[in-house]
Formats: sequence, structure tokens, C-alpha cells
Amino acid sequence: MTTSPLFYQAGPEMPEVSHGRGVFLWDTNGKEYLDGCSGAISCNLGHGRQDIRDAMLAQLDRVAFTYRTQFENAPALALARQLVGMTDDALEKVFFVSSGSEAVESALKLARQYFVASGESQRRRFVSLRPSYHGSTLGALGMTGYQPLEAPFSDITMSSLKVSGPDFYRQRDADRETHVRRVLEETRNQIKAVGDETIIAVVLEPVGGASTGARLVDKAYLEGIRRLCDEIGCLLIFDEVLCGVGRTGTWFAYQQWGVTPDLLVTAKGLGAGYYPVGAMLCREEIVEAVMASGGFQHGHTYAGNPLACATGLAAIEAIRDEHLLDNVDARGRQLQRGLETLQCRYPWVGDVRGLGLLWGVELVMDPTEKTPFPAQANLFARVTALAKEEGLLIYPRRPLDGLAGDHFLVTPPFTISESEVVLLLERLERTFARLDREVV
Ligand code: PLP
Repeated sequence: MTTSPLFYQAGPEMPEVSHGRGVFLWDTNGKEYLDGCSGAISCNLGHGRQDIRDAMLAQLDRVAFTYRTQFENAPALALARQLVGMTDDALEKVFFVSSGSEAVESALKLARQYFVASGESQRRRFVSLRPSYHGSTLGALGMTGYQPLEAPFSDITMSSLKVSGPDFYRQRDADRETHVRRVLEETRNQIKAVGDETIIAVVLEPVGGASTGARLVDKAYLEGIRRLCDEIGCLLIFDEVLCGVGRTGTWFAYQQWGVTPDLLVTAKGLGAGYYPVGAMLCREEIVEAVMASGGFQHGHTYAGNPLACATGLAAIEAIRDEHLLDNVDARGRQLQRGLETLQCRYPWVGDVRGLGLLWGVELVMDPTEKTPFPAQANLFARVTALAKEEGLLIYPRRPLDGLAGDHFLVTPPFTISESEVVLLLERLERTFARLDREVV
């Protein structure tokens, strides 16, 4: 009999949390941790905020739950308007859910129903990238390109056509432009091979999250994908569950490159870790077609929950009122400089990549050949454990199918100050010094 009835995933024993304030958390033994990954890239405003607490309590005093088919509620309407405004009115309709996986499921189903309603029910296939992560429910898992997660379920998931995205770290083409052109050409050929008339949508993360260690696309790639979708008449879905709502320094990551999707999903930071809330945004024309065919055949009990939406609204207002996107930008550049300094000091830091306050660090055995460390070294777990001992939380991932190195994300809350970034980098430096001595 184990001591705890809870189980999630295999892993080391964990300390019990006591409380959190700002970018710090404390365990019940009094040890302090700098939250360098905002929990699961979700506590974007840090911990213990009075304004979010007050907004939640005020909503609780009015009403905690109403059902979406019985009442409109003011926080849901206000949050939906905010989200539409954050896309500069490019995506006009909003559908609320409680998690990233639910948001992805909703987008997949809405896209499919749109084509059924439009008389194109031969469209039954999605295209997504390998590597990628789109969630843990079966539909979202079918989009996910990450072998260890897919393997036990591959016989029972509706798996998408997997294509490669750009990899600016490992690419061996003459230059970036040639690389992007080649990747797009391969994607086009793969789609043509299965029949472009069968494609519902291309689904991708503009900035990869845990699965890729913040791998980036670029403008030429996104423009190429947009053109391809338009040409073959399918939809483009951006998964901004992790990179949306300000994480990259713009409200949505796609705004960094100015290429607009037809549907967008977001979650994680939307409720800033205070309450689960996610959303799917899409073009009005899609919703009109689906509504004309009898309504969207989909929904979750907690969709548009007043308490969830009041929390999300308070979080977005805080980001806006405190000009936190500017801080994401400034502190992001400071963090980048610090991580690149560490990269110069430790040759096994192969790549540092990211945007805003979303940074990935990839560790490799041989920086010239970019060879990963052997999987048995479990470097991703070791670096996370050492960082935790040094009082720093980072977000790790196992190497990808042996094709990339161990990596981790550094994604602190948007509220982090200049001196707290210095502290984060000091703790990471101590972690790296120990890793250098003990393991590498
Ligand atoms: N999509 C992306 C890009 C994610 O990073 C995640 C979670 O990490 C999800 C979807 C799934 O979100 P959730 O864990 O809230 O279901």
C-alpha cells in the first residue's frame, strides 16, 4: 500500500506545497522555489494575487454556476468580447471550455461539422506536425506527434497525417529560406498523396511547447501553410493553448508573424492558474454554416461558467492595466541574454530558442553534431531535479524519439521583475554547474 491514494505519472516523490506569492512558492518544510515555469505555463500572473481573488469572490457572491443553455452571463460575454478584441476582430466567435484538450476537441469537431454542413463530408482527415503536443483526450492525442504518448493508443485514435515543420536548429539545408521551402514542398506532396479534397484542417502550434522545447516557425512558413490551406480549401487551426494570451509578448503568438488562422484554441494561462478556462475562437462564417445546419453538436457542462469567465476576465484586465506585455518583452530579452551566456559557458547547451517569456533550452552531448545524450541518462529528469534542489522550477521533457536532445522550458510569470530574472539565472547557473560536475 503506497502512502498517497493519488496517482498521475511515474516520477519522484514530491514535496507538499504550502503557499505562493508572486513568482515564489514554498513547501511545507519552508523551502522556497522560484516558479520559473508558471506551474504548467499557466500561472501567468504569479501566485496569491489579491485582485484575482477579489474578482472570484465577487462572482461567487453573485452566482458560481449557470448552464449555458439556460442563461447568458455577463462575465462570459465580457470575456468573449475581450478575446475577439485581442484578435483585432479577425476571429469573431468564441466557444468556452475548461481545458486545452477540450478546446482542441471543440475545434476539430467544429471544423468537421462545418464541412458536413457545407456538403463536403468527404473531408475527414486532419494534418498536424511531428513533433507536437495537442492534448491528452483521444481526438487531441490523434493530432499529437509525440511517440511515447501515442504508442499505447495508436490502434484506437483517429490519427492525423503527420508532417514535419521547420527545425531551424537541426536543418541541414543551405539556409533558412531553402529549409522552409523544402518543408512546405514535402507537406504539399504528403497532402496531395492522401488527396487534398479529404483534408479538414491543418493544426499547428505557432510556437511549440513542451514537446519541442519552444521550437519556432517563421513568417515564410506560416504564409506558405496559409496559402496551401486556401489553395486546397481546408481550414487552418492554431493551437495557442500554451503560447497564447500574451506569453510571447503579443496577445496571440500568430500576431508575431501576421498570419491569421480560421480557428484558434487557447487555455492554460487564460485563467492564470486561478480557475480552469479555455476557449476556441473562430471566424463567424464557420459558425453561421454550422448553426444553419441545426447547431454545433458539441458542448461541456462547465462551458462559459461564470466563475471561470470572471477569473479569465480579471486576468486579462490585469495584463492590460499593468502593461504586462511590455514586461514580457523586456524580461524576455533579459532572460534570452542570460540563457545565451550560459550557452557560451556550457557546450552541452545546444540551443536556446523562444520568444517573449517562452524559452526552450536543448541539451546535447555533441554541440557540433547535435547528438542527443543517451535516453538512459535521463538528463531531462536530472536537470529538473537539480534545479528544484536549487530552488528553481523548470518544465522538462524527455527527448523526442531520439531525434532531439533533452530539453526544458523556462517560462516565468509575466510579472517577474528584473532582479527576479537575475535570481532565476543564478539558480539555473548553479544547476548547470552541478550537472556539469555530476552527469555530463
Ligand atoms: N495544446 C497544447 C499546445 C498544450 O501545450 C497543451 C497542454 O500542455 C494542450 C493542448 C492540452 O491542454 P490541457 O492540458 O489543458 O488539456
